[in-house]
Amino acid sequence: MKNTKIKNLIYLFLIPCVFHIGLVRAQGKDGLPNIIIIFTDDMGYGDLGIFGNPTIYTPNLDRMAYEGQKWTNFYVAAPVCTPSRAGLMTGRLPVRSGMASNKKRVLFPNSRGGLPPSEISIAKFLKGAGYATGMIGKWHLGHLKEYMPNAHGFDYYYGIPYSNDMDPVGGISYVDALRNPKIDYFNVPLVRNGIEVERPADQNNLTKKYTEEAVGFIDKNKNKPFFLYLAHAMPHVPLFASTEFKGKSRSGIYGDVIEELDWSVGKVLEALKRNGIDEKTLVVFTSDNGPWLIFDEYGGSPGALKGGKGGTYEGGMRVPAIFRWPGKLKQGVVMEMGSTLDLFPTIAGLIHRDMPNDRVYDGYDLKEVMFNQSKSPRSEILYYRDTEVYAIRKGGLKVHFVTQDEYGNEDMTIHHPALVYNLDVDPGEKKNVSKKHPDFIIEMKKRLEEHKATVSPVVNQLEL
Ligand code: MG
Repeated sequence: MKNTKIKNLIYLFLIPCVFHIGLVRAQGKDGLPNIIIIFTDDMGYGDLGIFGNPTIYTPNLDRMAYEGQKWTNFYVAAPVCTPSRAGLMTGRLPVRSGMASNKKRVLFPNSRGGLPPSEISIAKFLKGAGYATGMIGKWHLGHLKEYMPNAHGFDYYYGIPYSNDMDPVGGISYVDALRNPKIDYFNVPLVRNGIEVERPADQNNLTKKYTEEAVGFIDKNKNKPFFLYLAHAMPHVPLFASTEFKGKSRSGIYGDVIEELDWSVGKVLEALKRNGIDEKTLVVFTSDNGPWLIFDEYGGSPGALKGGKGGTYEGGMRVPAIFRWPGKLKQGVVMEMGSTLDLFPTIAGLIHRDMPNDRVYDGYDLKEVMFNQSKSPRSEILYYRDTEVYAIRKGGLKVHFVTQDEYGNEDMTIHHPALVYNLDVDPGEKKNVSKKHPDFIIEMKKRLEEHKATVSPVVNQLEL
C-alpha cells in the first residue's frame, strides 16, 4: 500500500517536475528564440549602403545594422555556392562532407550527389529541439529527393533547388543570355515540398515571391519557435527585378536587384513586429560568397577588399553580415572574426543544447560576442579553394601559400616565400610583408599540416 502511494507520488509530482526543470533549462526563461538566416547569392562586401556603397540605396539593411550589429570580419566557408552552403548548414568545412571538388566547383542539374543524409543540418538539429523549420529559396545541396531540404530537416520548402543560371535553353550564348536575360533562357524549376509548381520559374517576380513565402511562414508559425532559412537567388546572374524596382536605382540592374532585396528584408522585419515576436527573433543577414567580378556591371563589388567569387583573396570570402535581435544584442560594429561555420554552434548555444559529439565541427559559439561584444573565440580563418587550403588568417595576419585566378584563365601560383598581408592595416591586400614575418609563415605551414590531419577522405558528392 505504502509502495503504491510512493509510486503514485513519483508519477504525479516528481517526473513532471524533472521534465519541467529540463524544459526550462533548454528554453531559458524567455523561451526558445526564433532564428532567421537570410542568405543572398554572390553579394559583395561593398554592395550595401551600410558597408560603404555610394549609389545603392539600402535603408532597411542600414537600419537593421544600426538596430543590431554590423560585422566587418565575417567569412564564409568557401568562395562558391555549393560548398559555402554546405558549410553554413552543417557547421563543418565542406571538405568533410564531400561537398567540395576541384573538378566541379558546384553541383549541376545533372549531378547525382548532394549533402549526405548522414550530415546533420541546422534544420534537423532544430527540428529535434521542437522547432518549425522552413526554407525558401536556393538550396544547391542536391536536387534529388534524398538530398533536398525536406530530407534534411525542413518541414517546408519552396524554391529553385540550384542556381538561377542553370538549365540554359539552347540558341543563345550564356554571356548574351545574362546580358539581356529573359525567363525562358533558363528553364529552372520552382519546387514546393518536392512538387514542381512552375517551370521556367518567373524570375522577374522571384524576390517578391520568396518574400511573400517568408512572411507567410512567419505569420503561420508566430506562436511556436521557428527556424526560417531564406536563401535568395539574387543577385546571382541572370539578374531579374520586379517592375517596382527595375530601372529605379542609380546603379543599373545590379542596384535594382539589391534594392529589391533590401525591400524584402524590410518586409521580413515588419512581419516580426506585426506579430509581436521582434524581441524573440534573431535575424542574420549575409551572403554565400563574394561578387562575381567577371560579369562586370552585372556582378557586385568587394568594396575595399581584393578579389571576388571563386578566389581566396578577402573579396571572395569576407562578406557583409548583419545580426539583429532587439533587446538582446549589444548594438554596434563588431570587428571580431566570425564565420557562417559558427552559426550552427552559436544557435546550439542559444538554445542550451550540446552539439552532436560524433563528428568534427569547425565553428565556435559566438553568443558572447553578440551579447557582450566580447573577444571572439574565433581567431583563424582557413581559405579553402575547393579541396585545398590556399591561405590562412591568424589574428590580423594572413598568409597565401597559393593564389589562383577566380574564374577565366585560372592560372595558379605557388608562392615561395608565401605572401603575407596585415589585414588590420591593409584589408585590400596590397602590400606583401612576408619579409617581416618569416616565423609566421613557418607557424602557418605547421598549422596547415595539423589541420589536414583532421580531414578524413569521404565520397566526393560533386563528382558523382
Ligand atoms: Mg554564390
